[in-house]
Amino acid sequence: MITTNGYAAQKGEHTVSPFTFERDPPKGNEMLIQVLYCGICHSDLELLENNWGITKYPCVPGHEAAGRVTSIGPEVTKFAVGDIVGVGCMIDSCLQCQACKEGWENHCEGPNGPTMTYSGYLSPGDKEAAEYNTFGAWSDNLVVREEFVVKIPENMPLEEAAPLMCPGTDTFGPMRRFGDLSGKRIAILGLGGPGHMALQFAKAMGAEYVAVVSTHAAKRDAAFQLGADEFIVSTDADQMRSFAKSFHHILSTIPVPFDLAHYLALLRRRGTITVMGLLGPYKSILNNIDLAARGLSLTGSMIGSVAETKEVLDFCQKHSISPLVEVIDKKDINQALERLRVADVRFRFVIKIAE
Ligand SMILES: [Zn+2]
Ligand SMILES: [Zn+2]
Repeated sequence: MITTNGYAAQKGEHTVSPFTFERDPPKGNEMLIQVLYCGICHSDLELLENNWGITKYPCVPGHEAAGRVTSIGPEVTKFAVGDIVGVGCMIDSCLQCQACKEGWENHCEGPNGPTMTYSGYLSPGDKEAAEYNTFGAWSDNLVVREEFVVKIPENMPLEEAAPLMCPGTDTFGPMRRFGDLSGKRIAILGLGGPGHMALQFAKAMGAEYVAVVSTHAAKRDAAFQLGADEFIVSTDADQMRSFAKSFHHILSTIPVPFDLAHYLALLRRRGTITVMGLLGPYKSILNNIDLAARGLSLTGSMIGSVAETKEVLDFCQKHSISPLVEVIDKKDINQALERLRVADVRFRFVIKIAE
């Protein structure tokens, strides 16, 4: 067994404290990865607070990991000891179902869906293993099968690579799904970890005009520095009205319940809004007339596939895109969580787990 030091919340706690546990050594095509950096995600708050009712305790968060392969199972073929790699939101899936076969492991239709990196089931489909609780990357190491590990390009700083595993991939996929962005006007709702990536992707993908819509007027300067063409304060009724029917596509990164109809008004006829990461109801009931009358499309999105994760790393390297990160020490995780609760981060906390 591999004794591992991490940080966990126990049931009823919203903070983490040091926690030591054992991991099974890598077998088959699994690898042991020493975690060097790991991001802090808004979903970590949701899970620590059990807001989705699915949290398993003890809960060791962390699904935006960058690290180094330190040992490999006998069947590993794509990686070697010493490789610098990333691990995102999943560490396994059934790899047998139609979704997995088509490269959508994040939509795995096996009995337990994909195995989430933390607070997840082990071995999809294995009934006994459904009781299992996976422990994430706010810890010294991870054990992951190679299909769910990606190589980090050389020269990419690891503290910047880590957030590409989640907010990078999560926003890249929906932006790609919008299709060719050249000549298109795009709005991004929210300017946090995912929003600031989505903004950079939209510009690099050739969008003609990209606006950030936020409740936080203080984020205006940052939005323009990151390449935005406009900044709209969502609580400013006049400004919202002046941008009515302006955008071909909207990507929402708002992680908490919000009023969807308020933003549909910004879409042009036959426009598309993708709501990423909101895993719960909207603030008010959506009247379908708001979609139907103007032929609007509403899509949802949650995490990304392994292929998308690889693609986002290459795309970021090619276009010199990187997340803006605030690297913190392990002892300051709880302080960072407090700041994240009030959206006080520019734009991603990344924990330095090891040198
Ligand atoms: Zn995340
Ligand atoms: Zn599957």
